[in-house]
Amino acid sequence: TETPRQYGRVMLKISGEALMGDQGYGLHPPTVARIASEVEAVQAMGVEVCMVIGGGNIFRGLQGSAQGMERTTADYMGMLATVMNALAMQSSLEARGLHCRVISAIRMDEVCEPYIRRRAIRHLEKKRIVIFAAGTGNPYFTTDTAATLRASEMNCEVIFKGTKVDGVYDKDPNKFPDAKRYETVSYDEALQKHLGVMDASAIALARDNKLPIIVFSLDAPGGFRSILEGRGISTRVHN
Ligand code: UDP
Repeated sequence: TETPRQYGRVMLKISGEALMGDQGYGLHPPTVARIASEVEAVQAMGVEVCMVIGGGNIFRGLQGSAQGMERTTADYMGMLATVMNALAMQSSLEARGLHCRVISAIRMDEVCEPYIRRRAIRHLEKKRIVIFAAGTGNPYFTTDTAATLRASEMNCEVIFKGTKVDGVYDKDPNKFPDAKRYETVSYDEALQKHLGVMDASAIALARDNKLPIIVFSLDAPGGFRSILEGRGISTRVHN
């Protein structure tokens, strides 16, 4: 687990599925609100927060292409799904009185801001929560890679990956009661053993930019803040 320290700027990556509650599809507003409160607790510590939210609760490119859709078209649909999730999160954060900007890798100026690095950094300096939407803007990538890319560009100290599990295990803890959680694991081991931290391109990018990934569970109330305070259970992926 993390030794206590004050972070300046962090990236929180969550999957789209984290927003769907028990519904199995789409957005569940009370769940979005709960995650917004997790972010609020961390922002209240004075930490600058970047977010990337996936789109898998609405659409995944691979699913679409498996059903005969052209892969790139399907991927663009997936990227558009992340914009909907980002807007839902923005709305929920703003309902709590927080300042938040959605920045899209694909221009849609009526809906949100375009990605301009210096402008995004300025928002963060002003303690606005910045949600990076539309992934990297390119097909064949994932939002894990987008989170790693934006975290690198924004000079984040770390990527927090909030999941349903409280870390990285040697096998699926939901299937194997004897599964063992790693306290820390190297990027290379995560890649070689296909530990499912993130996809391979995202892990490689994090490794090359020396960006630690901390995997933790978003299910426990106050969990995000306790991880930043060095309490709570997680796995740290680093060199
Ligand atoms: N996507 C893409 N390029 C990107 C990021 C995302 O094409 O840079 C598409 C891709 O089709 C992906 C979908 O958007 O399946 C949703 O993103 P992701 O699967 O990463 O969402 P998550 O699993 O985190 O909910």
